[in-house]
Amino acid sequence: MNETMEVGGALLASLIEAMPEPVLVVSDTVRLVAANGPALTLFPQLRLQAPLTTSLRAVDLHDAIARVLNSGQAENISWLDRVPVERLFQVHVAAFQSSPARFVALTLHDATESRRLEQTRVDFVANASHELRTPLASLLGFIETLQGPARNDAEARARFLAIMLEQARRMARLVDDLLSLSRIEQTLHLRPRGAVDLSGLVRHVRDALTPLAQDNRVILELKTEPAQVRGDRDELVRVAENLIENAIKYSAPEPGQDERRVWVSVAPRGSYGVLEVRDEGPGIAPENIPRLTERFYRVDVGQSRAKGGTGLGLALVKHILLRHRGRISVRSQLGNGATFSALVPLYEA
Ligand code: ADP
Repeated sequence: MNETMEVGGALLASLIEAMPEPVLVVSDTVRLVAANGPALTLFPQLRLQAPLTTSLRAVDLHDAIARVLNSGQAENISWLDRVPVERLFQVHVAAFQSSPARFVALTLHDATESRRLEQTRVDFVANASHELRTPLASLLGFIETLQGPARNDAEARARFLAIMLEQARRMARLVDDLLSLSRIEQTLHLRPRGAVDLSGLVRHVRDALTPLAQDNRVILELKTEPAQVRGDRDELVRVAENLIENAIKYSAPEPGQDERRVWVSVAPRGSYGVLEVRDEGPGIAPENIPRLTERFYRVDVGQSRAKGGTGLGLALVKHILLRHRGRISVRSQLGNGATFSALVPLYEA
């Protein structure tokens, strides 16, 4: 009779098989006596009756088993498994008696994703506070100067107020983008239902951005084919604005250089309506491309701030397109401009 049989054999095996999380049972000599399907999927190297130490390299886990066998007190431990990929498990380690032998049951909960989400949340709050604190500190400094040393200096007052206005606008943009992002996240599962004329919408955005393009000495070239997509008009306006504004801002020529062009096109492609924005700017290095849609990620923070960026534009674009069941794609080569494409499913009547 093997040890599994001693614990109640078939009953134990069916009981742990009914559990959704990986469960292992070891004997008091730390041999594996039972493991359910999820455990075997997670650790295919597990061998029944073999010592657990030979198949799982996990000092923390083995120490916990020894303690629990000794004390009889159940424990919860965190175990970071690094191979083949890093995974964090919360493991409940509990002893039980099945006369005359003692066993230990290990129940594993994969906490990798919740830890990642928690880290993202912490980073996000830290980044958002930092971004707001910088213009706020500048505003406070100028207010104090205007109340004190510069009280009667009309020329300094005019100059400082202009800077304060710019800083306050930056904070307003940031709060605006943060609110938009959170609103879209809340409705991510609700796919928009409306029919939107993507070409008309992009023509409208092009008209609105023409003054910015002129200020930056950028010529906007537009080519559109009819494409009716399924979407939310206001959100798709944000997508077009962000992509065209970025192309203008980041590809604008330096003083003394020739004017630059930005090509904007809309066309149906397969089951998508595609908005493509191509510029002749400095382009983006391959290692930065996958990170562009992260919140607050900028290739050059100073340059983004100088151009009024919040670092949230492409995160917003990505989320809007996710809600639309579409996607964003970026192609670029350093020194050779960048092409951003937004794909939005066509409206199926
Ligand atoms: P920002 O508010 O900084 O513009 P975005 O999320 O819109 O934030 O863009 C993130 C970063 O991606 C920018 O800071 C910039 O470094 C880079 N980027 C975006 N568009 C372009 C482009 N057309 N050419 C070069 N770099 C770009």
